Amino acid sequence: MLRVLTCLAYEHNYWYVLVAAIVCVAGSMMTMGLFDRARQLQGSNRLVWVLLSGMAGGTAIWTTHFVAMLGFDPPTGYTYEPTLTLASLAIAMVFTAAGLHLAAAGGPTFMIEAGGAVIGLGIAAMHFTGMAGLQVAGHVEWAADLVVASVVLGVLLATLAVNRCARVSTVRGQTLGAGLLVLAICSMHFTAMGAATFVPGPSFGLLPQAFSSELVAISVMAILSVVAGLGLYVIDARSRREVLDGFRHAALHDALTGMPNRAHLASHLPDVLKACAAEEGKVAVIVMDLDRFKDVNDVHGHRAGDALLQALAARLGETMRVGEFVARAGGDEFVAVKQGVDGASDALEFARRLVGCISLPVVRQERSFSVGASLGVSLYPSDARDADELIGVADLAMYRAKRQAGNKICFYDHSMDEGRRARSALTMELNGAIERDELTLYYQPQIAVATGEVIGFEALLRWNHPHRGLVLPGEFIPIAEETGLILPIGEWVLRSACAEAARWAKPLKLSVNIAAAQLSQSDLSRIVHEALIETGLPPARLELEITEASIIDDLHGTLQILRQLKLLGVAIAMDDYGTGYASLSTLQKFPFDKIKIDRSFVEGVGTDRASTAIVKATILLANSLDITVLAEGVERQEHLDFLREQGCSEVQGYLFGRPQPASEIAGLVDGRARTGNERRPSRSAYTEIFQPPALARSVAF
Ligand code: C2E
Ligand code: MG
Ligand code: MG
Repeated sequence: MLRVLTCLAYEHNYWYVLVAAIVCVAGSMMTMGLFDRARQLQGSNRLVWVLLSGMAGGTAIWTTHFVAMLGFDPPTGYTYEPTLTLASLAIAMVFTAAGLHLAAAGGPTFMIEAGGAVIGLGIAAMHFTGMAGLQVAGHVEWAADLVVASVVLGVLLATLAVNRCARVSTVRGQTLGAGLLVLAICSMHFTAMGAATFVPGPSFGLLPQAFSSELVAISVMAILSVVAGLGLYVIDARSRREVLDGFRHAALHDALTGMPNRAHLASHLPDVLKACAAEEGKVAVIVMDLDRFKDVNDVHGHRAGDALLQALAARLGETMRVGEFVARAGGDEFVAVKQGVDGASDALEFARRLVGCISLPVVRQERSFSVGASLGVSLYPSDARDADELIGVADLAMYRAKRQAGNKICFYDHSMDEGRRARSALTMELNGAIERDELTLYYQPQIAVATGEVIGFEALLRWNHPHRGLVLPGEFIPIAEETGLILPIGEWVLRSACAEAARWAKPLKLSVNIAAAQLSQSDLSRIVHEALIETGLPPARLELEITEASIIDDLHGTLQILRQLKLLGVAIAMDDYGTGYASLSTLQKFPFDKIKIDRSFVEGVGTDRASTAIVKATILLANSLDITVLAEGVERQEHLDFLREQGCSEVQGYLFGRPQPASEIAGLVDGRARTGNERRPSRSAYTEIFQPPALARSVAF
């Protein structure tokens, strides 16, 4: 130890030691920085950065050694033998690059530490090769213990340096690594220098090609500048390329899921079609839209929705095989492409694989989410020949799949175009249907289970189409919702139904359906208020039916509007209960007066175990929350018997009466027939002929 300190204190020029230290610190930091970058890359990219860090590290080691040597003042004259001097530089670079290469690939194994040890050995090998190239006037005697100590120190500290940099993947780890590498280089160098005793002897014959100290100084600076310049150039060039690659990647990939995006699809699909056209091959294009995704987003929050999309994207990516491609086209819509399909069965197999991926539940924070998907498939070249058209017709097929219950994979066929044309014609015709007096209201009775008496009516909209006859709301309400026409139509329904009910002799209840768009109208309570005042219908007789889906759209806003409506004195019913994503907390938060169990559940009571259980549980729940429960779609006596047994208080369905024009329920509402001459809310020509109410007399209460 004393020998090492004496060597450092008395035999070195401090200025050179200081320069050596600066070079060593800067070089070590650069080496660790480059190494950290290399670890994040793969394949040839990683190799380039490992070589670069090997060169930087090797040069740092070598330069530190030779700058320190320039400040070394041995008691003998000396020069440098050029081959060994340059070989020592090569050794430093090769060992450092090899060590970093091992360490960059290392994970949980000891490869990282092995890499560090190789670098430590490299420092020692460089040092002793450099010293072998030192021509002294006399000879050098080595203290074996200090030589061993210098090697051990170099290896241990370099191992620790790489260990910290690689295993603590932060700036702190990198800085610690660089500091330890500086210690490894310096402690190895000065311990080894302390091990050497220069014994003066007869002066040696100067080698013709020997380097003087000055020449070594110039060479060191030149090599340092070349390596630093080269390093900076490569870093700059690669960084620029990486930035460009990054931009290109960002432009073609979706930020949330990392999947190819719509732009990528738009450039990929035409290429695939061109290639397949040349080989006369077929291509399948599949448009997928997630079912119930909006519910996950609304009920569990956007983070859950994002996590679900990311998990599904990862699964879809993993399931892709050669010739297959999948992109996120936006929102919850994905488009998949498969080239070289044999025909429909091949495309169907691909579509089923995609459905399989999507329908598996995704677990996040101990909660399991699952969604379904509706898929539309189009085939090239039979369905369309152009990329946009292929996606367009697959989209049409997807909408068909969405509307169908059960079948979630739909192949495009030409009849769908006719459907699309008919739909857009209907959209145009619906515009102005109120003015042309084509809308009319039908009324369906609602019955008290206990007494069998009619207690109210639900107003159901019909469209008297000039050519198509009576069009049911299922066909035109979605169009009205899409186009915004639902607002004037909804207002017309409300005013007309209130006017009709106000004329009933019996104070029966009136139920009016309210669409989601109407609920998000901030002045809905004003419209309802006006309708009540204009028609004179007491608020207690009016009930507004809203669906679960329309509440979920905007929980807070809807709650505000429902409270205003309740203040008017009207009742609120939850329609189609069980078909949406209503949680029990929705029932607790919203001021519902009634729950209407959807007819899809009532249909299955007694035959389907799940439906029976849902109906039973809903009645139990509603009764314990003091909410009236009405079962929709009661068609058979067994339904009624079951519902009464379970404690259901109200029923509605074909068993008691179908929806009928106002004129035909006259007997139920005031016991006399309508003449058709009284003032009506609409100018519709109702059937003039009185028919006895369709309430089935045979129903056993
Ligand atoms: P909803 O409000 O659930 O109305 C009940 C639907 O079930 C009605 O269909 C009715 O005719 C039908 N229904 C009643 N009992 C039975 C039965 O025993 N068996 C069967 N198979 N069906 C039964 P409709 O009139 O076709 O109306 C369908 C939907 O259109 C309504 O469902 C409602 O969501 C919507 N709708 C109707 N009128 C309006 C309206 O004025 N405004 C809004 N926003 N939506 C409306
Ligand atoms: Mg309803
Ligand atoms: Mg309903």
